[in-house]
Amino acid sequence: MLTDVDLVTIGAGGGAYPAGFRLARSGKKVLMTDPKGVLSGNCLAEGCVPSKTVREIAHHLWRHRQMASFGATGSLEARYEQIIDHKDRVQALRYAQHEEELKRSPNLTLLKGSTRILDPHTVLIETDRGTQRVSTGNILIASGSDIHRPPIPGAEHCLTSHDLFKVSPNLTRRPDSMTVIGGGYIGLETACMFSALGTRVTLLEQSPSVLPGTDPIVTDTLLPLLDPGIRILFNATVISVEKTSNGLQVRYLDGNGKEDFQESRSVLLATGRKPVLPEGIKEIGIETSPRGIVVNEALQTKHSHIYACGDVNGRTPLFHSALRQSLVAAHNIMAGNSPVDYMDHRSVPTTVFTLPAASWVGWLPEEARQQGIRLLETSYAFKEDSRAQILGETGGGIRLFFEPGTLRLMGGCVVGIDADHLIGEMGQAMAHGLTARDLATFADPHPMASEGIGKAARQLF
Ligand code: ADP
Repeated sequence: MLTDVDLVTIGAGGGAYPAGFRLARSGKKVLMTDPKGVLSGNCLAEGCVPSKTVREIAHHLWRHRQMASFGATGSLEARYEQIIDHKDRVQALRYAQHEEELKRSPNLTLLKGSTRILDPHTVLIETDRGTQRVSTGNILIASGSDIHRPPIPGAEHCLTSHDLFKVSPNLTRRPDSMTVIGGGYIGLETACMFSALGTRVTLLEQSPSVLPGTDPIVTDTLLPLLDPGIRILFNATVISVEKTSNGLQVRYLDGNGKEDFQESRSVLLATGRKPVLPEGIKEIGIETSPRGIVVNEALQTKHSHIYACGDVNGRTPLFHSALRQSLVAAHNIMAGNSPVDYMDHRSVPTTVFTLPAASWVGWLPEEARQQGIRLLETSYAFKEDSRAQILGETGGGIRLFFEPGTLRLMGGCVVGIDADHLIGEMGQAMAHGLTARDLATFADPHPMASEGIGKAARQLF
């Protein structure tokens, strides 16, 4: 029976384990709990890592087709079964790596079980071998998020990202046709990757644009660059999914309220995620909103020793944000819950791994306009860029937004080549208060797309 630890984490994903390891390294006694019994949460189980493994192969095929006019010959194909084998191997490799990390951390224990809060300093963990009661100095809630299934009749026939990307996934053969319900980042990324792999894809989105809530400067640039083979139907509200002799039929209302249907071999349900709230939080007065547990900028709930990090607070539900949040919590626990570190959600970059990718960070024009914030914009088109010309992918470009006067970087976005890499540099610059002058006076490596950051900044001088 484990009693008296310094920290219990509810979950062992990106919101939990960086804090666990950090505190254990400082000699604190840490107990991490997760029903999966392994580190890394949903990111490795069925999220970022496995989906990007499949996407990377799809990206190669997509790029090969773009290069066809420069002499790349033959049609490049990949066997889905082997792609899945590779994905499973990557997951196994990373799980083994995490296991080694655990072995090297004597102050940290990972217990397989589901945890609920009994009182502000006690948790109960349901394990295979019964219930354990543990008293703890601090609690870190990092129970993540789960797939949201809207009440559509027949939704149970649909695949979810879980069926596609978990270890030994349920989908083992690539379908010849797929309907994707939902044009958020998971729906759009999956539509792009399956289309690149050779599946006929139709995407149904109930709003008038994809990636709802994203600044139109991103979506308006991205949409024309996507594979025109992907059929995207906007303002389409799905009303039911039914089995047919060849697969599934999705019935929907179009923008004029007229009923129509779409048939395909498989249907992917990608209608968003919702926070997973552990039992017991209400009883101890922890506040929640529809997006998750309410926390301050130090990641504390109304109890200064109980933290909520990652998807469960819904602020910036991305793995890399969870990781940084977890470290903020660790630093504040080490400081006796009197904060010494704060989360800057604004400088967390977002990438949508479509083909091509789109990324953004900080303030973008639409939100700035709504909040009355003035931004100074400068941009760089990839049609001017040497790497884009080499690859024959000259669509899109970089936009940077600065604060007038101080010229401090306030935000930026990239659509097109290397967006997923470039946004790291832009996020770093923004997080550390760099100005247009700093960006303009850096020797960006040539001939890489990051040159565009310096070139855009130099337009202001
Ligand atoms: P984040 O990146 O925000 O940490 P993840 O979704 O990657 O989120 O990880 C959350 C983890 O929390 C998952 O592995 C999930 O199994 C685990 N979890 C969910 N509910 C509980 C609970 N009541 N007790 C312990 N672990 C939980």
